[in-house]
Amino acid sequence: MKAALFHGPHQDLTIEDIDIDKPGPREVLIKVAASGVCHSDLHFVDGLYGYPAPAVLGHEGAGVVEEVGELVTQFAPGDHVISCLSVFCGNCEYCLTGHPSLCQSPDRARAPGAPPKLKKAGTDEMVHQFLNLSTFAEHMLVHENAIVKIRDDMPLDRAALIGCGVMTGVGAALNTAKVEPGTSTVVFGAGGVGLAAIQGCRIAGAGQIIAVDVVESKLGLAKELGATHTVDASEGDPVAKIREITGGGAHYTFEAIGNKDVAEQAFDALRAGGTATVIGMIPIGQKVELNGASFLQEKKIQGCTMGSNRFRVDMPRYVDFYFNGILKLDEMITVRGKLEDVNEAFRAMKAGEVARTVLMFNGAG
Ligand SMILES: [Zn+2]
Ligand SMILES: [Zn+2]
Repeated sequence: MKAALFHGPHQDLTIEDIDIDKPGPREVLIKVAASGVCHSDLHFVDGLYGYPAPAVLGHEGAGVVEEVGELVTQFAPGDHVISCLSVFCGNCEYCLTGHPSLCQSPDRARAPGAPPKLKKAGTDEMVHQFLNLSTFAEHMLVHENAIVKIRDDMPLDRAALIGCGVMTGVGAALNTAKVEPGTSTVVFGAGGVGLAAIQGCRIAGAGQIIAVDVVESKLGLAKELGATHTVDASEGDPVAKIREITGGGAHYTFEAIGNKDVAEQAFDALRAGGTATVIGMIPIGQKVELNGASFLQEKKIQGCTMGSNRFRVDMPRYVDFYFNGILKLDEMITVRGKLEDVNEAFRAMKAGEVARTVLMFNGAG
C-alpha cells in the first residue's frame, strides 16, 4: 500500500510502498477512505513532540472494514467506521468509571513475538505505527477498541473529522467543561479544534460564544459556525475585550492552540468561579504561569485529552448531530486532496489558510 512516511522532524513526508500485516486476533484491517490533517501531526513534524522514525503519521480517519481478526465479533467486512487514538481496554479503573480516554492499558500492543504491523515494502525494516492508527495510508491495521461503527449514509470525509478534531473540540465543551446553557464562553484559536469547540458551546446552549484569533478569515468562519462575538487578538489585549463583552469575565474559556501565553490569557479571562480548559498541545518543557491570588476566586484550569471522549458513544451521536444540522462539518473542510498533498496541507495549516485539509484515498469522494 501507499503511505506517507515520516523520517524525522523538519523533513517532508515521502510517499512510499509499505507492507501491512494481516489482522491479529483482536485487530481490524481498514481500507482508509479519508484522513484529516490535524495540528497534532504537525507538532511531530515540527519536532515539538518526539516520535520514533520511520513512522506513518495521521490519526483522524474513517474508512471501511476489510478484514477482522478471529476474536473480533463487533465488526464485519463492509462496516463503515471512524478510528480514534483513544484505544481503551474496557477493564481498568478509568474505563469502568466512564473515562476510557484516560485508559493507560498496554493491551493495545500486539502479542509478544508477533511481526510489526508495518514494514518497508519487501524488507524486514519496521515502520512505526502512529498513536495506534497511522491514517496517512491506504490501509490501517488497528485494535478493535480503536474504532466505532457508524451509519452507512455518513460521508466518510466528514466522518474522518469526527475522528480527532471534532471529537476533541465538541467533547471539550460537552464532556470536559460541561458547559451550561446560557453561560458565556470563549474559544482561543479558530482552527479545526477551536471551530469544533465553538460548535460544542453552541450545542450546549451557551449564551455568549466569543471566538479569538489573529486571522480575520478564521473569525468569519467562527461566526458562521456559532460564535456570537469575535475578537481579533492582533488588535490588542483580548482579555480586556472579553471582560467588556462578558461584563467581567467568562464562565468557560478554551485554549485551542497549544500556546503557554494563550493558556494564561484563557485563565485571566475567567470570571470568579469560571473554568479554563486547555485543549491545545503546549510544547514539552514549557510551564504555564498563573496569578496565585486568582485561586481565591475559585477560578479553575484543567487539561483535556481528545475531548474526554467515550468515542463509541459520542461519535455516532455526532454523526446524528450532522444529519440533524446541529453539527456543521461541510464548512470545516477547506481543501480535499490526495496523499501526495500532505506536505502542502501542513504548509497551508501553518500559514493559517485552512480549517482542515482532508486527504482522500481509494477513489473516495
Ligand atoms: Zn488530532
Ligand atoms: Zn482501560
